[in-house]
Amino acid sequence: MKVYKFGGTSVGSPENMRMVRQIITDGEPKLVVLSAMSGTTNSLVEISSHLYQQHPHKASEVMARLEEKYARVVEALYATPEYREKGQVVTEGIFRMMRLFLHKSFTLKEEKILVAQGELLSTQLFTLLMQESGHSTFLLPALDFMRVDEERAADLPAIRTLLLELIDNSPRVDYYITQGFICRNPAGEIDNLERGGSDYTASLVGAAIDAEEVQIWTDIDGFHNNDPRFVSNTRKIDQLSFNEAAELAYFGAKILHPQTIFPARIQNIPVRLKNTMNPSDSGTLITTRSDGSGIKAVAAKDGITAIKIRSGRMLMAYGFLKKVFEIFERHKTPIDMISTSEVAVSLTVDNTRHLEEIHHALMAFGEVEIDRDMSIICIVGDIIREETGFASRVFNALDGIPIRMISYGGSRYNISVLVPTSHKTSTLQTLSDKLLNASF
Ligand code: ADP
Ligand code: ASP
Ligand code: MG
Repeated sequence: MKVYKFGGTSVGSPENMRMVRQIITDGEPKLVVLSAMSGTTNSLVEISSHLYQQHPHKASEVMARLEEKYARVVEALYATPEYREKGQVVTEGIFRMMRLFLHKSFTLKEEKILVAQGELLSTQLFTLLMQESGHSTFLLPALDFMRVDEERAADLPAIRTLLLELIDNSPRVDYYITQGFICRNPAGEIDNLERGGSDYTASLVGAAIDAEEVQIWTDIDGFHNNDPRFVSNTRKIDQLSFNEAAELAYFGAKILHPQTIFPARIQNIPVRLKNTMNPSDSGTLITTRSDGSGIKAVAAKDGITAIKIRSGRMLMAYGFLKKVFEIFERHKTPIDMISTSEVAVSLTVDNTRHLEEIHHALMAFGEVEIDRDMSIICIVGDIIREETGFASRVFNALDGIPIRMISYGGSRYNISVLVPTSHKTSTLQTLSDKLLNASF
């Protein structure tokens, strides 16, 4: 069976939902993962922040606007009064429950329940649409099988056991629908895979059922060689390797949630990116193979903090880095980039939750310097196969950009540079102009 995932824009209007119906009903059975309609999760996050700040009035206003939007969606989505009524029952039930949050204390637990409602809405409304048009369809509740562990990492063995059991006990249908993004934690509470997490749901579900292929349907024709939100003249890439795609997703390519590739790579399941608005386009195929050689694409990850520790104690010493790493480990803070000299080590983190404590602990080793608002620019490709002179071409292209750190040689797929976020767009554009789109 194939797994298809449709993102926010793909299910963002009644028209688009009908388009999704047309794409999936090609006679092949499928498991379909849906995001919330575009804008919904953002509205739910906005409602949550009003409730945290104890502004129930503002929260109520945003909720009312969202409810009106769903009333219009239900009105336009179905062909028959019977299904319009079923749609109304779904939306009214969910908004009635959400309104209860306006009057009670609001914690992280309530927030997670609230932000889960977008996927619960879209999947129920879409399942009704499929049933109205006579397609044998069944809704598999993601909360019954999607699991994360204490660290909020996906628990694939548990997901596999629960999902296979659930499918076994469900009616035999052509189309199974489920929610992206949402899951339960070990306490049994509603949780999520973080923003953009529906892609990750799709690859986890694909790995759990050993799918033939995972298709991620979105609003663009595939993986581009640069970020189209910031750079003009980007180009679609036909084929990427799992390693290349994983690096790009991890280092900020929004088209894929950072973790999406891992479950697919473990089980060698092809991942295809497709455009819901242009289904006949072949999109981008991600497998063990990559086409061509050399530099493929660049991506940028914002919100990076650089930490430099300058210490006389590093000179000729061993065991110093271990002690530094232990501090990050103790505070559960992953390190992305690292570069060292005889007297200093620089590294980057994107999680600053424990920065204060880390800063304090590092001061025992020497002088500590912290730079915020940095971006990692990641250049990806089969770099080993590049002809010599690769590094000089990259540095020539980056002439005039204030580079704070460089990481090269860590893997054959990636070279990363750290720049102030204020220089991100110009760095991406110059890489497109001088490296990706230039003919040599
Ligand atoms: P969905 O709601 O379908 O999950 P997203 O907005 O999360 O869609 O991801 C698709 C968007 O990712 C595109 O519209 C595009 O603006 C952005 N994007 C960023 N980097 C890339 C890239 N390298 N290739 C394609 N799209 C990218
Ligand atoms: N709806 C969630 C979000 O907007 C998950 C997703 O769309 O992937 O982040
Ligand atoms: Mg997305």
